[in-house]
Amino acid sequence: MKILFCDSYNHTDTLVVLNIKEKKNINPLKSFPNILKNLNLTGSHNEKSTLVNIDGFSKIHILGAGKLQKKQSLRNIGGKIYDISKNDKSIQVSVAGLSKQDIAQIAYGLILGSYSFTKYKTVKNESAKLDKVSFVGENSSEAKKCFDNLNCIAQGVFLARDLVNEPANVLTPEKFVETAKGLSKLGVKVKILNEDELKKLGMNALLAVGQGSANKSYVAIMEYMGAKESENPFVFVGKGVTFDAGGISLKPSGGMEDMKFDMGGASAVIGAMKAISLRKAKANVIGVLGLVENMPDGLAQRPGDVVASMSGQTIEVINTDAEGRMVLADCLTYVQKKYKPRSIIDLATLTGAMMVALGQEYAGVFGNNDELKQNIIKAGDSEVEGLWPMPMSKAYNKEINSNIADMKNTGSKWGGACTAAAFLGRFINDGTSWAHLDIAGMAWEYKGKPTTPKGGVGFGVRTLDRLVWDWERSVK
Ligand SMILES: [Zn+2]
Repeated sequence: MKILFCDSYNHTDTLVVLNIKEKKNINPLKSFPNILKNLNLTGSHNEKSTLVNIDGFSKIHILGAGKLQKKQSLRNIGGKIYDISKNDKSIQVSVAGLSKQDIAQIAYGLILGSYSFTKYKTVKNESAKLDKVSFVGENSSEAKKCFDNLNCIAQGVFLARDLVNEPANVLTPEKFVETAKGLSKLGVKVKILNEDELKKLGMNALLAVGQGSANKSYVAIMEYMGAKESENPFVFVGKGVTFDAGGISLKPSGGMEDMKFDMGGASAVIGAMKAISLRKAKANVIGVLGLVENMPDGLAQRPGDVVASMSGQTIEVINTDAEGRMVLADCLTYVQKKYKPRSIIDLATLTGAMMVALGQEYAGVFGNNDELKQNIIKAGDSEVEGLWPMPMSKAYNKEINSNIADMKNTGSKWGGACTAAAFLGRFINDGTSWAHLDIAGMAWEYKGKPTTPKGGVGFGVRTLDRLVWDWERSVK
């Protein structure tokens, strides 16, 4: 979709005017006295009217915008503008009186809300045809620069959404690797480890998960160096289980189709790498993806198996459906051997227990460094991605002691998100700053929101990008 910023109206396009409640001094509707005279509008949320032939415009949509106090309310208005005008080919949005930042946020919300995934529909929806949006107002041309930056982040979110929405017969680990390689066009150095190389490195925990699948396992490494080489990198690690059948500990069939989104962590990491490289961030950022498929098969790992991880620690496999932590464990060891991370943040749709605890409102944040956790939660707040602090304690850690190996891959019946985090914590060296985001409840949108249509959310892209952005500003 083309987004333009202009100074004057084109009377042949549909006009969208916002009516902002209790802010009459900066209300774009003020520029249209004839509309105000003819209609009794309050400006309340979701108030909608469509007029024809007024002030020389053939069609005008008026949208009640409420009070527009917060950034997210601006973005939501953008999503709603898309919703009321998606059947028009070309619209102009009056943003008279609004600041350049506010205009850019509305445009950002409109772009995020316009996302759709229709590549497998052979009959395209003819009604959704909006392809040009012009924002008109005195600060519009200055809003363009703010928007260009936000649009880079939207492109990262879209990549993540596309990947989450792709079915698992298309998005195999190998296909995911191809997508990662595509980032090399943006100045990202991409390195791929295949099964032979993973074996040589001793990444047996990750390989054990993929051994029951006909699709080969990979690790993809993306390096973006936008700062001095001496600057320690942020390291993001994503769980990329392209389909999780549960393995021999097979999942129940109801809802199993959702398990194509078990690569939501990896999609957030690759989306963030795209956003960060597109906006040419002045930071060093490494993204690592553990890419496997968890299937039941004659070669699949069994409950009771013991595997030696890359760290040297041994794992007794109690439940083959607790596979994400085995994939992450070896990736976490790898990045600590290879880099000197400023901090490591892993993202994973890791446990159903996380969804039980926090539903679809917040992802859980675990870790060993309070400052890092606070910075992540603050970054999430700025981007309206809900994150909530979760506990780590010796008691959870004790739960995963095994009788025959160093640890087992599940704890007892309760606190599954916390024992999973304890498991990961065993692969973090002393002194390494680390956080783990369990995003199981956040990767998929079931209802649809103004800036998040149904389907893959791309959750985490904006928080990771914002974390880096906040850091860039702190060292300036
Ligand atoms: Zn699983």
